[in-house]
Amino acid sequence: QVSRELQSHDTQVQFGDVTIGGGSFAIIAGPCAVENREQIFKSAELVKKYGAVGLRGGAFKPRTSPYSFQGLEEEGLQLLQEASKEYGLPCVTEIIDPAHVEMLEQYVDAFQIGARNMQNFKLLKAVGQSHKPAILKRGMSATIEELLLAAEYIYNEGNQNVIICERGIRTFEKATRNTLDLNAVAYIKTKSHLPVIVDPSHGTGIRELVGPMAKAAVACGADGVIVEAHYNPQVALSDGAQSLDEAHFAKLMNEIKPFIQAA
Ligand code: PEP
Ligand code: MN
Repeated sequence: QVSRELQSHDTQVQFGDVTIGGGSFAIIAGPCAVENREQIFKSAELVKKYGAVGLRGGAFKPRTSPYSFQGLEEEGLQLLQEASKEYGLPCVTEIIDPAHVEMLEQYVDAFQIGARNMQNFKLLKAVGQSHKPAILKRGMSATIEELLLAAEYIYNEGNQNVIICERGIRTFEKATRNTLDLNAVAYIKTKSHLPVIVDPSHGTGIRELVGPMAKAAVACGADGVIVEAHYNPQVALSDGAQSLDEAHFAKLMNEIKPFIQAA
């Protein structure tokens, strides 16, 4: 079980050659979606250049509108894997269908379960039967208890490589895309032995706020951050407004390093 009452030491999850949790902080970055070869390679180059350790990129995008870009699907997975190998960065992508577990396992080092699927119990169980790490994002209207029980669904199937991700929740506040609930990070660390990471990109929706909230994530005890970074956010097919360009990504990476050492 995921409760700290049953295991006092922190779980460490192995994401490719990167360890997450138990004092090992990880920065994962990359575009919201894989758009084409040039885009994922140029973005991965940035991720590597400034010292992040993992690459993200969606190939199956659960978009709010059916008319928005839905992802390159398997072609996107191929490109993500190629960029991941080229730059030596383990990669993560979102899974939206339980039937895709075996396909995704061939291409990526970890699954992401998106906010919209946090309580898709068939999906949770399917990922629970894999041995690859799962980054479980908090549903936008999910309580912490519901999030921990969703994690339990994966864990209970035998996959102990679960990473919890706070990505902001829906509140009355409209100034930011979501309200990043850093209470959840500190709280979950007391209740569960699983690593907890923060997604300040979806948590704020605003590029300028991503760096400050990433630093706040370190300060409140998170085990890592996952941020959206794009070589040219102006042309991004999804989440451009919250994607870090080179200047913002460089600033985040330089500012966060002393925080990680001090934490
Ligand atoms: C994403 O990571 O691009 C994404 C869709 O995140 P979330 O599920 O948190 O909205
Ligand atoms: Mn996104």
